[in-house]
Amino acid sequence: MNEQVIKDVLAQVLTRVLDEVAHGDASHAAAHPTGPIPVELSARHVHLSEQDAVALFGAPLTHARDLSQPGQFLCKERVRLIGPKGVMDNVAILGPSRGKSQVEISKTDARMLGVDAPVRQSGDIAGTPGIILASQTGIVGLDEGVIVAARHIHMSPEDAARFGVTDNEKVCVRLCTERPLILEEVLVRVSDKFKLAMHIDADEGNGSGWKNGIEGIIIGKSGSSHGLCGR
Ligand SMILES: [Zn+2]
Repeated sequence: MNEQVIKDVLAQVLTRVLDEVAHGDASHAAAHPTGPIPVELSARHVHLSEQDAVALFGAPLTHARDLSQPGQFLCKERVRLIGPKGVMDNVAILGPSRGKSQVEISKTDARMLGVDAPVRQSGDIAGTPGIILASQTGIVGLDEGVIVAARHIHMSPEDAARFGVTDNEKVCVRLCTERPLILEEVLVRVSDKFKLAMHIDADEGNGSGWKNGIEGIIIGKSGSSHGLCGR
């Protein structure tokens, strides 16, 4: 190697390091060693407004069992989803009731139902497709509310400080599974009501060989210069 080649290589390395420092990922990676995050699979489910729950079941929702996030629970009631191309029975309902009803399905479910559901953060349902919900005794037509939930990590402010991330930031996570997979654009959601857990949907779970007890590792932030997570 002549002197010019060596200089060029050094200049490239320096540029990359400065870029990483400017974006914060190299410094974060060093300053915030990240531990494993439990990864849970969210099967398709529905959140109902109180009004829609009463329209379907004649009464408010009833508690069947607690979920991992504090205050969230699986309901005894189940609902049928009716789309233009297909029907899904026995779909879980999660409580407590919310301001607006919302249906969270996978892209595979969306294809079977014939609904073009976009990837959205929970609660962000403006302009999303609707669907029909049915019980034994009632029927409700939603004008909007069908989404594929963006993969996300629930964490407390203490966890966020430990990982060096902030609310609404997006990170890359490696799933340590039988078929290891790096998931990009994983939304970080921070609240003192949250317990540390990453939520993926059935497509992501099946694609990676997920099973109970699987953990994920944050390997960088979206938009970093590692060649991953380019958006
Ligand atoms: Zn979640």
